[in-house]
Amino acid sequence: MKAVVYNGPRDIAVENVPDPTIEQPTDAIVKITSTNICGSDLHMYEGRTSFEPGRIFGHENLGEVVETGSAVQDLHQGDMVAVPFNVACGTCENCNAGLTNYCLTANPDPELAGAAYGFADMGPWSGGQAEYLRVPWADFNALRLPPGARDKEDDYVMLADIWPTGYHATEMAGVAAGDTVVVYGAGPVGLFAAYSSVLKSASKVMVVDRHPDRLALAEKIGAVPIDDSKTDPVQAVLEQTDGKGADRGCECVGYQAHDPQGKEQNNLTLNRLIDSVKFTGGIGVVGVFVPSDPGSPDELGKQGKAAVDYGKFWFKGQHMGTGQCPVKRYNRKLCNLIAANSAQPSFLVSHELPLSKAVEAYQHFDAREHGWTKVVLKPHAQTTS
Ligand SMILES: [Zn+2]
Ligand SMILES: [Zn+2]
Repeated sequence: MKAVVYNGPRDIAVENVPDPTIEQPTDAIVKITSTNICGSDLHMYEGRTSFEPGRIFGHENLGEVVETGSAVQDLHQGDMVAVPFNVACGTCENCNAGLTNYCLTANPDPELAGAAYGFADMGPWSGGQAEYLRVPWADFNALRLPPGARDKEDDYVMLADIWPTGYHATEMAGVAAGDTVVVYGAGPVGLFAAYSSVLKSASKVMVVDRHPDRLALAEKIGAVPIDDSKTDPVQAVLEQTDGKGADRGCECVGYQAHDPQGKEQNNLTLNRLIDSVKFTGGIGVVGVFVPSDPGSPDELGKQGKAAVDYGKFWFKGQHMGTGQCPVKRYNRKLCNLIAANSAQPSFLVSHELPLSKAVEAYQHFDAREHGWTKVVLKPHAQTTS
């Protein structure tokens, strides 16, 4: 089959690789019909992780079940499924508690918890930017989609990671009806944190970024756009909230946060959140941070550390939730919203491309080029060019 293979920093290719096969009786093989490029793929693409050359990218996957192992009971050939990016066993202590983001079985490194498809430090699992994907513990992991799923693939594929992850930021921050919310970062996750806040009836949602196309999308879904290349975002949030600060804040940028001139500063959004969220307010951090970052421009960053204004954070009595999203906690309910036409997360999609265009797609997306907000690759689309 064809797949997007990582060969080194900013060096990927669509290559022929062996087809995945059923390796365990609980496996299923999914024919991937929609698979997203994600901002977290870019950390790996840029060589800022330990992702090994030769591996396949892709953790936001949707497709059709084409083969099942002998122990798979609920999935059948022909079922359309959205596959959470978390690979989870379903039976360990953490999975039993609903913490599929920190499965103790799926990551073979005894010092790590949590696994994902095509992801650095998250187990050996191949990614789905490919024609086929092996899904382990398939009954537990795959979400079967309702009838008509093929007509709304660009909506349902957002259930694999990006929408639940944005939603998780709002849950950790504690967003409820009537709250004011500030979201830092209007990439896909940030836009979905804003979208989720709007769906939860927040009274005001503010989104901080500096890319005009992203800010325009934020405005389109009902948020107040704040351009941090033109204004101090903390002051802007205070002005929007009668000087109090937002009730809730979401960090959707991560460790490669940088100023509008491109200078990296990994504590930039964390400290802006502490400054722009009210006393006793909640903060949800889903932007990626890593335990070590040899490519960081500063000494603390290289050690995975960030100079956070902890004194101010404590003094304000704020709380912060962190980490990756347990997709299964939310994906079924969010799926129901799509099926009921109450949500249309495909608003984010800017490009649908065949797998053969993946190399160019990564280049455009990595450069944050205007208009490249979210790419969905279609590995089985008929190529016309
Ligand atoms: Zn993702
Ligand atoms: Zn588990």
